[in-house]
Amino acid sequence: MDISINPTMEAYGLIINGKSVQTGHSFEVLNPATEAVAGLASLAGSEELDEAVRAAATAFDKWSELPESMRQTACLDIASKIENNADELARLLTVEQGKPLNGLGARWEIGGAVLWTRYTAGLSLPVKVLQNDDEGKVELYRKPIGVVGSITPWNFPVLIAVWHIIPAILSGNTVVCKPSPFTPLSTLRLIEIMNEVLPPGVVNCVAGKNELGAEMTVHAGIGKIVFTGSCATGQKIMASAAKTMKRLTLELGGNDAGIVLPDVDPKQIAEGLFWGAFINSGQTCAALKRLYVHDDVYDEVCNELVAVAREVKVGVGVNEDVMLGPIQNQKQYDIVDGLVQSAESKGRVLLGGNPDEIRKETGGKGYFYPLTIIADLENGDRLVDEEQFGPVLPIIRYHSIEEAIEKANDSSNGLGGSVWSQDIERAKEIANRMECGSVWINKHGMIQPNAPFGGIKRSGFGVEFAEEGLLEYTDIQVVFS
Ligand code: NAD
Repeated sequence: MDISINPTMEAYGLIINGKSVQTGHSFEVLNPATEAVAGLASLAGSEELDEAVRAAATAFDKWSELPESMRQTACLDIASKIENNADELARLLTVEQGKPLNGLGARWEIGGAVLWTRYTAGLSLPVKVLQNDDEGKVELYRKPIGVVGSITPWNFPVLIAVWHIIPAILSGNTVVCKPSPFTPLSTLRLIEIMNEVLPPGVVNCVAGKNELGAEMTVHAGIGKIVFTGSCATGQKIMASAAKTMKRLTLELGGNDAGIVLPDVDPKQIAEGLFWGAFINSGQTCAALKRLYVHDDVYDEVCNELVAVAREVKVGVGVNEDVMLGPIQNQKQYDIVDGLVQSAESKGRVLLGGNPDEIRKETGGKGYFYPLTIIADLENGDRLVDEEQFGPVLPIIRYHSIEEAIEKANDSSNGLGGSVWSQDIERAKEIANRMECGSVWINKHGMIQPNAPFGGIKRSGFGVEFAEEGLLEYTDIQVVFS
């Protein structure tokens, strides 16, 4: 089915200084469910990046001086605008990203963008009085940094853009955003919508290939980069941002472990385990990516997980009965397939594993991959050690909790983790011993706007959300009087 929603193929314009800008060059964005062209995005080069940074720098002078309450109101207006345009944004997201409209898909992502925007709009940065006595007064001010460069990935394009942009502008910064070249359309439209309520230049959007992101990281006019994406790109950004001493927030890859204790009811936890691992077809930074199950409940947990997975429909996301879509792009498909092939001879394939099967069902087009569960793997197997970022879950058997904790922590990543048990206090003790930024008990990946989220080890540094996330967009100034 052709679900292109931009039949005239006029390129989506960049958004610079409040205006839609056609550059005369554009690039194609593919629909991962059909491999047809979903739309065109205008291609930005150095010149457009300079223009966007200039516009943001000019807008900063007034925007940063506004009373905080006016910026809060603007963010609330943005939330309403996103809400009013939710249907269009969700369809665009489905067409370019592949996720279904329904379930934990595109509508859910846009709903999350509204929720996060509203919540963040209510945060504030009061002056903190550190001392006020006969010796004098000491006050701590939080000042905006200037122009923030936001670089986003293709898995949750709208939600992650909101996570970057809203705290940045609320705290008085202005923004130049660069979406992933795989999913620029929904972000260009989102930022066009934001510009209906913002002064020109406060939020700009440039679309382009990876080199454009690299240019942002050395641009002298940008004071901070907030980046969500792969560890490899995060390392490059950290190196190149050093030249201009940019502030950084790096939300990078994860290889989250889940530990299932012997006291669980496998039937009761199976659905939570499944969606923890397979949300967004596994293309989620804090998805459950390695599952450690105690020997006592191992077979039952495996069976229950497979039973849940068999009920979930994978397909073209505009169909309302579809719960999971394809892998977003060919490159990621090849990574996932390579990891599955490496695991097939080492473990026991309980479900999926053969992409030809799903091709028959979906008509041979699109980057569809069958939901795949492979048991009896070990640390040291590539599918366990490397981030799959796809609809595949490796299961590892363990015998003692010490062994499970050691294996879970044996990773250079440290984004999230989970413990599954009926004994919450015991589960919390184990959670405290896991080396990661967030740990969930009897669920996985449930982030929320009032709780800071971020990685440790090579999953990055800095946090997003809540007051702690807002502070990342500020420098400190202390005034002694
Ligand atoms: P990616 O690193 O390839 O690309 C992310 C963004 O960086 C894109 O906009 C890309 O154009 C840009 N980019 C590429 N090279 C660059 C460079 N040298 N300098 C500056 N920018 C550059 O990642 P991806 O493939 O889009 O996303 C998948 C990865 O992102 C996974 O590893 C996943 O775990 C991670 N991720 C992490 C989180 C989190 O919050 N921790 C969230 C989503 C995704």
